[in-house]
Amino acid sequence: MTDSDNSNYLLPSFLKSRARTRIVCTIGPATGTPTGIKRLIRAGMSVGRLNLSHGSSEEHHSYVKILREVASEMGVAVGILADLPGPKYRVGEMEEPEITLVNGQHFVLQREPCEGNAERANVWPLGLHKDITNGSSVLIDEGEIELKVEEIKSEQIHCRVTLGGVMKPNKAVTAPGNTTTVDYFTPETVNALGFVESSDIDFVGLSYVRDGKDVERVRAHLRRSDKSPQLVAKIEIQQAVDNLVEILAESDAVMVARGDLGVELPFERVPAVQKRIIRIANEVGKPVITATQMMESMIVSPTPTRAEATDVYNAVRDGTDAIMLSAETSVGKYPFKAVQAMTRIAKRAERYLEHPMLAERRQKAAAKGGLAVDDAIADGAVSTAVHLNAKAILAFTKSGSTAARVAAYRPSKPLLALITDFGAGAKLALRWGVIPVVVEDHREIQDMFTAASELVIETKIAKEGDVIVAVAGLPIGVPGTTNLLRVITLPEPVHHNG
Ligand code: ATP
Ligand code: MG
Ligand code: MG
Repeated sequence: MTDSDNSNYLLPSFLKSRARTRIVCTIGPATGTPTGIKRLIRAGMSVGRLNLSHGSSEEHHSYVKILREVASEMGVAVGILADLPGPKYRVGEMEEPEITLVNGQHFVLQREPCEGNAERANVWPLGLHKDITNGSSVLIDEGEIELKVEEIKSEQIHCRVTLGGVMKPNKAVTAPGNTTTVDYFTPETVNALGFVESSDIDFVGLSYVRDGKDVERVRAHLRRSDKSPQLVAKIEIQQAVDNLVEILAESDAVMVARGDLGVELPFERVPAVQKRIIRIANEVGKPVITATQMMESMIVSPTPTRAEATDVYNAVRDGTDAIMLSAETSVGKYPFKAVQAMTRIAKRAERYLEHPMLAERRQKAAAKGGLAVDDAIADGAVSTAVHLNAKAILAFTKSGSTAARVAAYRPSKPLLALITDFGAGAKLALRWGVIPVVVEDHREIQDMFTAASELVIETKIAKEGDVIVAVAGLPIGVPGTTNLLRVITLPEPVHHNG
C-alpha cells in the first residue's frame, strides 16, 4: 500500500508509473480470466480487445463482465474494443485445430458450410468467387499459405497450393489487389453488431473499411439501438489508404492494421503507409493504434526480438497513441511478459518524444479554417505548462472531450482527466497520455480548483508552491465548451512555531 492508494481519489499508484502510450491487448483463452485480466492491467493494458471473428458470443460476454469487474475493483478505467468481422473473408471452422496443406496439392474453397480439412474449407462471407478469376493468387492467414486459382465452378474455387503451411480455423483469406464488392453488413457483421448492442462496449473496430460511407452506415446502425461507442476504422486495404482522409473524418479513431495491410499491399509499402496514417491522425487529433506483429515472437518466446523492440520504439516516436497485441495476449505463451516488454520500450521511447514537433502537427491542422476556442485553450494549456514548468495539466471533463483535446497536443507534462464516472475514463482509454481520475461532481468552479489542488498534493504529483494548469468548460458539464484556462499556484503550507 502506498499513500496514493489510501487517498480519497481513485488513482492507484501504478497508474503514474505506466507508459503514456496506450496498450491494447486482445483477450482470448490465454488471458480471459479474472487473474489474467488483473495481470494484464498491472502490466499496463489500457484497452481490452475482443475479436468478434474468433470465439463465441458467450465467451465475449464473459470477457466484458470480467474486464468491467476487475477494472472497477482495481480503480482503473479500462476501455473495451470489439472488432467487427466486416467484409473480410475467412476460412471457417476445422475438423482439427491445425490442418497441414502441402505444395502442389489440390484444395477447394467453398461456399457451403463444412468443417475444414486437407481437401476443402468453407470461406465466409459469400462473395470471394466474384472477386477473383482463374490464375488469381489467394492467401490464407496473412500469407502463411498461398493458393493459385485454377477453376471457379458454381461458387466453388478450385486451387493449387503454391506455398504449403498450417491452416487454422477462422484465419484470413485474402486476394491481394482485389477490392471486395461485398456489402459491409454481412450476416456475421450484423450478428456482431447485435453483440455490441447487447453489451457494454466503448470502441468498435471496423475491419476492412473501404470508405467514409462504411463508417457512417455502422454509426447509423448503432444509433438505432441508442448505443454510441467510438468507431475505430481499421486501415488494411488499398482503398482505405486511398480514402484515409474521408475515413478519418467519419471515425473517432483509426488502426494501422498491418497484418492484412501487409498482404493487401506489398509489405515494403507498409512502413511508409504506417507513418502517414499516424501523421494524419495526429493532425486531426484522433487516436491512432499501431497493430499486429509488434511482439510476434513473444507468442512463443519470453523476450522480444531486437527488431520488435525497435518497431515499438519507432511507432511511439512517430506519434502513435496506442500499440496493440493480438495473438501475443489472446493465445500466446507469454502474454504478461509481452505487455511488460511493451511498457518498458514505450516508456523508453517517451523520454525522447519530440513534444514540440507533435504539437505543431496538431496546431497547423487545427488552425486551418480558423482556430476553435476549445483548441486554442488546449494548445494554450500545453504551452503554458511548459513555460511555467507546471507539474501537471488537469482537465475537468464530464464527457472526456476536454482531456482528449489537450492530449492531441501531446503535452510533455502529466495530463490528468478529472472525470465524475468510470465510463468517461474508459472512453479516454485510447488517448495518448491521459490519466483518468474519478472525482466528486462539483457544481462550483472554485470547488473544482480546490479539489484539483488537493488531488495533486495527495497523490504527490506536486507539492506546495508548485504550479499546475487547469482547463475546464463553463458552464460546467456541457460537452464541447472548453473555454477556461487557469494557472494555480499551490498554497505554501502555514508553518507553526512550537
Ligand atoms: P484481424 O485481422 O482482425 O486482426 P486476426 O485473425 O488476425 O484478425 P487477431 O485479433 O489479430 O485476429 O488475433 C490473433 C489470433 O489470435 C487470431 O488469429 C486467433 O487465432 C487468436 N484469437 C484471437 N481471439 C481469440 C479468441 N477469442 N479465441 C481463440 N483464439 C483467438
Ligand atoms: Mg485485419
Ligand atoms: Mg490480427
